[in-house]
Parts: sequence; structure tokens; C-alpha cells
Amino acid sequence: MSGWVRVLGLGPGPSEWITPEVSRELAAASDIVGYKAYLARVEPRAEQRVHASDNGDELTRARHALELARAGARVALVSGGDPGVFAMAAAVFEAIDHGPPAWRELDVAVSPGVTAMLAAAARLGAPLGGDFCAINLSDNLKPWSLIEKRLRLAAQADLVIALYNPASKARPEQVHKTFTVLRGVLPADTVVAFAAAIGRPDESVHVTTLADADPSRADMRTLLLIGASGTRRIERDSGAAFVYTSRRAAGGS
Ligand code: SAH
Repeated sequence: MSGWVRVLGLGPGPSEWITPEVSRELAAASDIVGYKAYLARVEPRAEQRVHASDNGDELTRARHALELARAGARVALVSGGDPGVFAMAAAVFEAIDHGPPAWRELDVAVSPGVTAMLAAAARLGAPLGGDFCAINLSDNLKPWSLIEKRLRLAAQADLVIALYNPASKARPEQVHKTFTVLRGVLPADTVVAFAAAIGRPDESVHVTTLADADPSRADMRTLLLIGASGTRRIERDSGAAFVYTSRRAAGGS
């Protein structure tokens, strides 16, 4: 029997944000592979084999999935959010690119999920209504000097910036350095939003300005959004402010 690999995005948390395609592929799998925190969000049937791994070596996990498929297993490889955004899908293709030729012929497909940036944006209003970019602040796989350069250029380009992986216990300092870089380029009243654990019971959203933001508020469950010049805040008495970015932009010099 021929095996396959499906790289599946589970979204940021709630089951309502898992697509029907992902649910269907999960149900059809003989084996489910993933980081144990993500596996806690799926409900395997008794006959499905579950291969939980620690966070960390994604390439090893990807190779494991490909080896299982080669041996005939139907493998669901799960990721939080979208599997193509700073997650497993790129590790799978890197493994195929550098692996045995037979892996290229395997039946491999990716199913999209709701990435954290989109979930956070929906909670805030429409902060990604104009041009934007996403930067992963983890320097596990790239030098910090490159991250700083990208931050500076993105700010100069007047893009809304979504920051993934802003801080962890092992990397508490980088989000502080990030604000130092951004404060060197952007005006003090730039809109800044901290969106934490979106879609989960302990979800929180905090909207402030670049001048007032406390970087230590960010942790590994936080998505940070830095506004552009067209990003506005609509204050209201009946609830949290709306944040949106105009679809129009002037300038270009
Ligand atoms: N593939 C994932 C991202 C993995 S990187 C996706 O598409 O969303 C992990 C980072 O994503 C976290 O450090 C955090 O910045 C962000 N993130 C993931 N889930 C989140 C959530 N529910 N709320 C806010 N940010 C989240």
C-alpha cells in the first residue's frame, strides 16, 4: 500500500478555525506526527498511531514522517497555525530536497491553516488592510544582525510588521532590542498591538503606542503587530478600540 504525508495546519487554537480539509486528512491518517503541544489538540482514534516529539528539531520530525510514508503509512504531520508559516512545511521540503531521491516521488501535500497573524488581525479589526510583512524574531536559524536589518528596512518601507516568536525564556532580550531598532525609525505614536493566545481561553489583546509599549509584555504566545503610518485606532466607549490600516497610501519617495 502506498503511503502519503499531509502537512496540516491546526490554526491558532479553537477547533472552529480548523478547516474541513484538515479534519478530513487527519481522520484518514494512520499515523499522526507532531510536537506534543499540538497533538494535545487532536483527538486520535484508538487505531491511529501517535508520534509525539519535543519542540526543536523539525528536520528530524520531517524525516521521520517521510520515512513512515515510505514504509506505507498515511502520515498527518501537524503544525499550529499555518504549516507554511515559520513551521513544518518548509522543513518537509528541505528534507525532501536533501534526502534520498525516492522521497521526491512520495505523495506529499500541504493543507493551509489560519496563521496567528490573521487571527490576531481579525480580533483587532483590519490592521493588515494595507501592505504588510512578517518577521520571525527567533535567531535560532538566522543571525540577529539580519533580523535587525530587516526590521529597520521594513519600518523604513512603512509596512505593517507582524512579529512572530517575539520572546521565549531562552530569548528574553530580543524583543527589547527590536523596540530599540523600531523606535529609532518610527514615530512615537505608531500603533502597537500585543495579541496573546488568540482563540484560546486566556486570549488577550493590548493596543498601545510605540512610545508606551512595554516589550516585556511579549512572550512566546504573543503575536506583535507594529502599525504603519496608515494604521489608525478607533476608540469607543462600548469595548476595545478597533485597529485598521487604510488601503490607501501616499508617498513613495
Ligand atoms: N505556524 C504558526 C507560527 C509558528 S511560530 C502560525 O502560522 O501561526 C510560533 C509563534 O506564532 C508564537 O511565538 C507566536 O508569535 C505566534 N502564535 C502562534 N499561535 C498564536 C496565538 N494563538 N496567538 C498569538 N500568537 C500566536
